[in-house]
Amino acid sequence: GDFPIELDTLVVGAGPGGYVAAIRAAQTGQKVTVVEKGTVGGVCLNVGCIPSKALIQAGHRYEHAHGEESMGITTENVSVDFSKVQEWKGSVVNKLTGGVEGLLKGNKVDIVQGEVYFVDKNTVKVMDEKNSQTYTFNNCIIATGSTPIELPTFKYSDRVLDSTGALSLNEIPEKMVVIGGGYIGTELGAAYASFGTEVTILEGLDDILSGFDKQMTNLVKKKLKNKGANIVTKAMAQGVEETKDGVKVTYEANGKEETIEADYVLVTVGRKPNTDELGLEQVGVDMNDKGFIQIDKQCRTNVDTIYAIGDIVEGPALAHKASYEGKIAAEAIAGENAEIDYLAIPAVAFTDPELASVGHTEESAKEAGYEVNASKFPFGANGRALSLNEADGFLNIVTRKEDGLVIGAQIAGPNASDMVSELGLAIEAGMTAEDLALTIHAHPTLGEITMEAAEVAMGSPIHIV
Ligand code: FAD
Repeated sequence: GDFPIELDTLVVGAGPGGYVAAIRAAQTGQKVTVVEKGTVGGVCLNVGCIPSKALIQAGHRYEHAHGEESMGITTENVSVDFSKVQEWKGSVVNKLTGGVEGLLKGNKVDIVQGEVYFVDKNTVKVMDEKNSQTYTFNNCIIATGSTPIELPTFKYSDRVLDSTGALSLNEIPEKMVVIGGGYIGTELGAAYASFGTEVTILEGLDDILSGFDKQMTNLVKKKLKNKGANIVTKAMAQGVEETKDGVKVTYEANGKEETIEADYVLVTVGRKPNTDELGLEQVGVDMNDKGFIQIDKQCRTNVDTIYAIGDIVEGPALAHKASYEGKIAAEAIAGENAEIDYLAIPAVAFTDPELASVGHTEESAKEAGYEVNASKFPFGANGRALSLNEADGFLNIVTRKEDGLVIGAQIAGPNASDMVSELGLAIEAGMTAEDLALTIHAHPTLGEITMEAAEVAMGSPIHIV
């Protein structure tokens, strides 16, 4: 018989939202089970953040292995065994997913393999191939994530790839078309371009990487072109014909219909929340017309026992946002007064150069009614950036005019993804440009760029005039 198993807290999905929520809930003394229908680690660890960064890094290494003439380095006979690259990428993923499993177990969280379906506001059924098991809970945190949107004219296949397919190719394609120049398409396109694939990115809007300003995206486009990639903006992808060993993609640009042949087409046109197959209607959980679950500041839905976090709720679909919300939901269930505050949530594109933004841009600050200063410092005036031979880029700090309070920052340059943390901290801690300027930064480091942009904000920079 199906005797219900009783829990304090059930977590649905073990991605960066769910596994973090489960661990934090267990830390507060809750009896927790996390149910996962696929692999622990979710999209991020298995087919998202981590494998994409691994491929990008391998691509960079390969590019650099071709020598850097400006540094006096030339090389011969550089080659890549792509199936070994994939093996290495897989080993990175396995280390991390194994690590997460260990962390869950170490925190006494039970991991159950299966698919969750809601029965009522305190009950789910968990189905695997053979069985159905009922669980009852006091509280539940849903973290089922998102899936790539499929265009009706680009049905996914062996040649028409979503991001997961593109991450698991076992050859370096000669030619690849990427539909959608968001960060996922641009990162993956750039990774293959680094390996020598002739990449064409088709973007419907007038620029790739929407959300970052033109000065930043121009740097990425320049590098992409150096890698031999072709970027077509205001391009409307129309359809695909699969040939014997490739694809023919048709698109419209400048009022003309064009066809382009390639080995593969990668479609990255957005992701949709996994909320349609959970039986949530049965329980009356409020969703908007796009399927995103509505939550309050503690990640609680309109149903008081059910919380939702990560890609299934609105806001940037990013792993660190999912994890952050996971901690809030777990702490809220434990009776703590944790609340979400998206003030300083960083966004990063792991492109070449990396782009990162946190808090306000100059424009968004003005729209929000602030009087601001925007203070820039170029990587080209920094000794470390020059000695890395990566001097393209800048860091911009947005400060409130009246008191120098740091309210945002944008960075384009090497290691922007790491540098953005200091600026996030400055915003979270309510620091001013003076605080950053008075902090001694080691020399020579890229971090000095942050200090110097703060000095620009103070009106007295040392290394630019
Ligand atoms: P997910 O990671 O999607 O996990 C949800 C889990 O729930 C899955 O494991 C799924 O199997 C499970 N599940 C679904 N339905 C059920 C059910 N009914 N029962 C049981 N289990 C279920 N973000 C970043 O911050 N940085 C990056 O660099 C980055 N790069 C990315 C690159 C790519 C190619 C992609 C696709 C995404 C990337 N992201 C990145 C986004 C990031 O992966 C997501 O924002 C993040 O994974 C969302 O976490 P989540 O916990 O909400 O959901």
